Amino acid sequence: AATPTKRYTITLLPGDGIGPEVIAVAKNVLQLAASFDGIEFGFKEMLMGGAALDLTGVPLPEETLSEARNSDAVLLGAIGGYKWDNNEKHLKPETGLLQLRAGLKVFANLRPASVLPQLVDASTLKKEVAEGVDLMVVRELTGGIYFGKPRGFGTNDSGDEIGFNTEIYAAYEIDRIAHVAFQTARKRSCRLCSVDKANVLEASMLWRKRVTAIASQYPDVELSHMYVDNAAMQLVRNPKQFDTIVTNNIFGDILSDEASMITGSIGMLPSASISDSGPGLYEPIHGSAPDIAGMDKANPLAAVLSAAMLLKYGLGEEKAAQRIELAVLDTLNRGFRTGDIYSAGNKLVGCKEMGEEVLKSVESKL
Ligand code: ATP
Ligand code: MG
Repeated sequence: AATPTKRYTITLLPGDGIGPEVIAVAKNVLQLAASFDGIEFGFKEMLMGGAALDLTGVPLPEETLSEARNSDAVLLGAIGGYKWDNNEKHLKPETGLLQLRAGLKVFANLRPASVLPQLVDASTLKKEVAEGVDLMVVRELTGGIYFGKPRGFGTNDSGDEIGFNTEIYAAYEIDRIAHVAFQTARKRSCRLCSVDKANVLEASMLWRKRVTAIASQYPDVELSHMYVDNAAMQLVRNPKQFDTIVTNNIFGDILSDEASMITGSIGMLPSASISDSGPGLYEPIHGSAPDIAGMDKANPLAAVLSAAMLLKYGLGEEKAAQRIELAVLDTLNRGFRTGDIYSAGNKLVGCKEMGEEVLKSVESKL
């Protein structure tokens, strides 16, 4: 490896279930891949989720949040599990994740969904439709109907019980997510589709107006607009038409899950949640998978690819990020599969062995 020239501090939050297993692999891959570019890491492992609840009584201890805030990036495994499912609402591991997102002010959630040529058969779609899908959903994460006020329960004029929520977007919230989306599209194929419901909702009308205005600052990116109902349909009809999609919190929640399922492999999909300044949060989209925890069966590649996103979007270390992505492809090309992506003719391996194979691929000068 070259002489170290750059040093970054990474907060590791292994969490619960398979979290510690996949984070152990991701850490090793991150360290090795970056070493070729003279990058060194200081890793700080902190408590989070159910593991933190058991030891400290809260799902996100203060030390964890302050350490995360002071680091260059945060890599999270997964949190939660049956054990805490009946806890008081405010003491759930999941509450810690919401607090962490709020504490880091990460307003943009990036979720790539691609169908790798080696895993076309895992897709829920027909081969011709699935082949070559490579898209990115950029979801607004801290605004919109999940946070808007007023909200609550009440009664209407006829005395019937009601529940209500409010969809609000301020111009600055739309502008900052739009900038992230245009910049993300720029690192990909320079095509951005903004998804809204501007034929019906005022918040969407403002969304479309601001995104359109910002487009003039990115003349190299081709912008289109689509209504969310049509987008949901197009995603399963012809997902290849999309490159980068930007949308609000609730539409993004739904569309990013839809997009991930067309790839059919939950164990392969990473995510990034980023802010304007400050560290981003990088994590696999899968949960803690308590059914296979501690059995060395988890697919660590979603966590490994999350580490690649950390390098690319968090540290601007694109070369090292690409090294990881190529190593993952090489490992799949060499036939190694964990149970979730296994099909006949491949080599079935556990989490640790998969990690070792990825390290070999990184080593082999890709
Ligand atoms: P959450 O509620 O935290 O989003 P969940 O309980 O809905 O998560 P997961 O924990 O992601 O879902 O598990 C769903 C299924 O996918 C389980 O059967 C689990 O074993 C499997 N699974 C999830 N992640 C992986 C992985 N990395 N490798 C292999 N299998 C996985
Ligand atoms: Mg769960």
